[in-house]
Amino acid sequence: MSTKDYLEKDYYKTLGVTKGASADEIKKSYRKLARKYHPDANEGDAKAEARFKEISEAYTVLSDDKRRKEYDDARSLFGSGVRMPGSSGSGGGYGFDLGDLFGGSSGSAGGRLGDLLGGVFGNRGGTTTSQQARPRRGADVETETTLPFSDAIDGVTVSLRLTGEGPCKVCKGTGAKAGTVPKVCPTCEGTGQGSRNLGNFAFSEPCRTCRGRGLVVDDPCAECSGSGRAMSTRTIQARIPAGVGDGQRIKIAGKGASGERGGPPGDLYVRVHVQPHPHGVFTRSGSNLLVTIPLTFPEAALGAEIKVPSHRGMPVSLRIPAGTPNGRTFRVRGKGVRRKDGTYGDLLVTVNVQVPQELGDKARDALENFRNATAGPDPRAEVLRQANG
Ligand SMILES: [Zn+2]
Ligand SMILES: [Zn+2]
Repeated sequence: MSTKDYLEKDYYKTLGVTKGASADEIKKSYRKLARKYHPDANEGDAKAEARFKEISEAYTVLSDDKRRKEYDDARSLFGSGVRMPGSSGSGGGYGFDLGDLFGGSSGSAGGRLGDLLGGVFGNRGGTTTSQQARPRRGADVETETTLPFSDAIDGVTVSLRLTGEGPCKVCKGTGAKAGTVPKVCPTCEGTGQGSRNLGNFAFSEPCRTCRGRGLVVDDPCAECSGSGRAMSTRTIQARIPAGVGDGQRIKIAGKGASGERGGPPGDLYVRVHVQPHPHGVFTRSGSNLLVTIPLTFPEAALGAEIKVPSHRGMPVSLRIPAGTPNGRTFRVRGKGVRRKDGTYGDLLVTVNVQVPQELGDKARDALENFRNATAGPDPRAEVLRQANG
């Protein structure tokens, strides 16, 4: 049975039942008619034979719940008893079907009809009209920005230039020349769907006339050649939160590509690169700020109260205890980088004990006195012994 049969033939009438007939009523009526027109009981009667075939065909469809529903759906869409154009009369062969009649870009409403039938008959191979017309969320967009060391710590608002495909500015996305408007595609009547025929079924595919847009343009916009789309650059302001780290990706919701057919925009992802501190004073380790400061030998040996730099603020005091070795790290709490939860990391101060490069006479005397005062066993005796053991 082809789609044409579904529209042309009234199987209920053939079986002498009403449209709302139960499965039982259909069965009963079929048995009665089948007995009456069975070829065995009507030898040589071509009319009876043809009638018997019609009855069998009707019963095949109406006795199968799924096929009966397809049949009902098709007829409720297009009315019953439709005579399809080109039909050669009742009965006859299956030489063509709706796909042939309406497929391609024949200029009639066929694309749409074919698509509807494709859906009615359970063909989900193609994109259905409803899927095609659904609002679509815009794409996510990725970009990069490079921040000075301090801005990454404090947070900053940056201007980002984004290049992407968007509506053509000249025609505002219509694709039509100024003063004209696009018109509904005559091939698909605006659905954007065409159909391709495979056997008895019409598969839907984007309309070839309008390429699925549903609209056609007589006078195309010169800027975008009628596509309505153009590469454009937009600048957006994006807030980069305090404490962002090098290589981190910041999500800025709703700043991606705009949606289609009223869909929401996508998100923007900004990959952040952080420049080193301009003078190399600070480095970062997560939410901690690291700084290395010079310490004189007397400060290390005797202890001292010193000032160390902090990020964007007054220097902070740090007490160096007597006998501090070179390379020791001190922690100044809360003077690091702001974390997501609003707390702050620490400032980690590493001391670098200086050895005097040039000595005045006085300093030399003092150091020689110091040497004499601290003379004792060879400090390398232990390591020398261990090296040979
Ligand atoms: Zn344009
Ligand atoms: Zn079209």
